[in-house]
Amino acid sequence: MKCIYCGNDNSRVVDTRDTDESIRRRRECKNCDRRFTTYETAESLKITVEKRESENEEFNEEKVREGIKNAAKNTDLNEGEAEDIVEEVKEEIRGKKKISATEIGKKVLEGLKKRNEVAYVRFASVYESFEDIESFQEEVEDLKAEK
Ligand SMILES: [Zn+2]
Repeated sequence: MKCIYCGNDNSRVVDTRDTDESIRRRRECKNCDRRFTTYETAESLKITVEKRESENEEFNEEKVREGIKNAAKNTDLNEGEAEDIVEEVKEEIRGKKKISATEIGKKVLEGLKKRNEVAYVRFASVYESFEDIESFQEEVEDLKAEK
């Protein structure tokens, strides 16, 4: 969520209020300390996901959550971390009308990579953006090299 005054990306939520149609959040910019208000509605999260090999569909955070949980099975990645990644994805798509499934997958991968290698590699292995097995292997090699 960008600060409306200075454009900085880092803000913290100081107050959240749930109304009938929307969630109102009072935020404080970590850069300039000014406060601003944002509203989230179901409408604002209505986003078309463009898929390469099937029909477009509406963004569904439950699907993202499920994908993360499947990858995280029997790993140390906990529920809170999975939820943080879902939030990062939502932050990424906020304000957009459409996004490709590939971009969502990338964002999830980014989140997993920071937190849990096993879950990351698992998610990556089922994830389409690795167009061929070669680029997937490269990614795994990179990961090993980083260790
Ligand atoms: Zn600011």
